[in-house]
Amino acid sequence: MSDKRRIAELIDKKAAVFTALNDKIWECAEIRFGLKHSADAICAALEGEGFTIERGVAGMAHAFIATWGKGAPEIGILGEYDALPGLSQQAGVPEKKPVIAGGNGHGCGHSALGAGSAAAASGIKDYLQEQGLSGTVKYYGCPAEESGSGKAYLARAGVFNGLDIALTWHPMMENSVWTMSSLANYQIFFSFKGRSAHAAAAPENGRSALDAAELMSVGVNYLREHIIQEARIHYAYTDVGGGLPNVVQASSELLYFIRAPKPSQVQSIFERVVDIAKGAALMTGTTMSLRWDSAAANYLVNNTLGKAMHTNMISLGPVTWTEEELAFARSFQATLDEGTRSNIPATVARYFPRAAKTEIEAMAAKPILDDIVPYKETNWVLPGSTDVGDVSWQVPTAQVFTACYPQGTVSHSWQLTACGKSSLVHKGLIHAAKIIAFTAADILENPALVADAKAEYQRRLDGESYCCPIPPEVNPEE
Ligand SMILES: [Zn+2]
Repeated sequence: MSDKRRIAELIDKKAAVFTALNDKIWECAEIRFGLKHSADAICAALEGEGFTIERGVAGMAHAFIATWGKGAPEIGILGEYDALPGLSQQAGVPEKKPVIAGGNGHGCGHSALGAGSAAAASGIKDYLQEQGLSGTVKYYGCPAEESGSGKAYLARAGVFNGLDIALTWHPMMENSVWTMSSLANYQIFFSFKGRSAHAAAAPENGRSALDAAELMSVGVNYLREHIIQEARIHYAYTDVGGGLPNVVQASSELLYFIRAPKPSQVQSIFERVVDIAKGAALMTGTTMSLRWDSAAANYLVNNTLGKAMHTNMISLGPVTWTEEELAFARSFQATLDEGTRSNIPATVARYFPRAAKTEIEAMAAKPILDDIVPYKETNWVLPGSTDVGDVSWQVPTAQVFTACYPQGTVSHSWQLTACGKSSLVHKGLIHAAKIIAFTAADILENPALVADAKAEYQRRLDGESYCCPIPPEVNPEE
C-alpha cells in the first residue's frame, strides 16, 4: 500500500515553490502559442526538481516535456499555462480594474493548472525517489488550450505514445471528477475576396465579399435543420471589409466553430459548410479560401481512472478555509449579477441530485463550495470542447476539478482573473496536486488498475483509432 500521507507531506514541503510559480505565470499572462516566459518559469521549476527538459516539441517553441525516472509505468501529467485576451485584471480587487486596458488575463485559471500539475509531477518524483520505486513521470507543457489546441498538435506528433495513463485537472468552483464527454470541434476561417467599386456610381463593377459572407451564413442557418441535434455551429465576422456603405466590400472573413459528439460527424457537417461557402462565392462572383484555426477531438471518459481519482479526493478530504478567505470569497460574490447569484442553488442541486432541499440551500449559501460532488457515470456530453480530448484518444486519461473560486464565479471573467493569486487558488492547486499524485501512486503500485483503465479505453475507442482532426499540412500559428 502506498503511503499517501507521506506524498501529501512531500507536496506540502514544496508548496511555496509552486504557488509562487502560479503567481509568476499569472503575471506573464501570455496567450496562444506565445508562452515563452510562462514555459521558462515551469521548465526552471522542474529542472530545479531534477527533471530533464525537452523544449520545442511538435513544432511549438513553448511546448515541452519534462521527464524524471525510468521504466514502467509511465505517467503523464498535463499542464496548461495560457491566458485569455481582454481579461487583464488587478489581483485581489473585487471590482473590474484591468492592469492594462484590453490586456491579457488568466480568466480560466491556467496559471494554477500549470503550477498545480508541476507540483503533482514533483510530488510523484519525490515519492518514487524516497521509496526507491521504478517509474517515469512526464510533465507535458501544453500551449494554447484556449484557442489553438496545442494538445492536438502534440497528439499528432505522437508524444503521448508509450504513456500508461495521463492525468490532469482544472481549477473550478467545485470539487469533482470529470465524468462527461465533450464535443469534437473544428475552428475554420472562411475568407472571401471580391472587387471594390463605388456602390452608387458603378455598382455593376463591384463583387461584394460581404454579400458572400452573409449568403454563406444564411445557407448555414438553413443547414441547421438538417444536422444532428447535438451538433453546434457558431460563427463570428472577423472582417466585414470596411465601414463605408458606399464602397463595395472587397474582402470579408468569418470564423466558424463546428462541433459534434464524434469527429466523423464534425467532418461531414464541415464538408457541407464548405459546399455552402463555395456556393456563396459562386453566387456573388467572389473567391473563397479557408484556413484552419484549430480543432480538437471529443473527450473519451475513463471511469476506472476517474473513480480512483474520486476515492483519493474523498480520502484527502476538503480544503479548510479561514474566516479571512471566506470573507474574501464573499466580497467577490457581491460583484455577481442577480441572475448569476440566483442560479447557484440550481447548480448545487445538479451536482448533488440526492441531497434534500435544506442541504442544497445550506451548500448554496457557502461562499466556497467545499463538498465533494458524488461520482456519477453518465453518457452526458458537455456542450463544449477541450484539447484534452486528443490526449484521451491516445491514452487512458482522467481529470479532477478542485474548488479554487467563490461559488457562482463565471469562467472567463474578470472575477476569476482577480482571484488568480489568492490563497483560495494556492490551496486549490496544492489540493489538486495531491489528488493527482495519490492517483499516480495507485498506478505505480496496482498494475491491475492500469490494465482495467486500458481495457476501458479500448472499449471506448470502439474499434476506431486516433486521427488528428487538424490536417497534416496545418501548423501552429502564434
Ligand atoms: Zn480552462
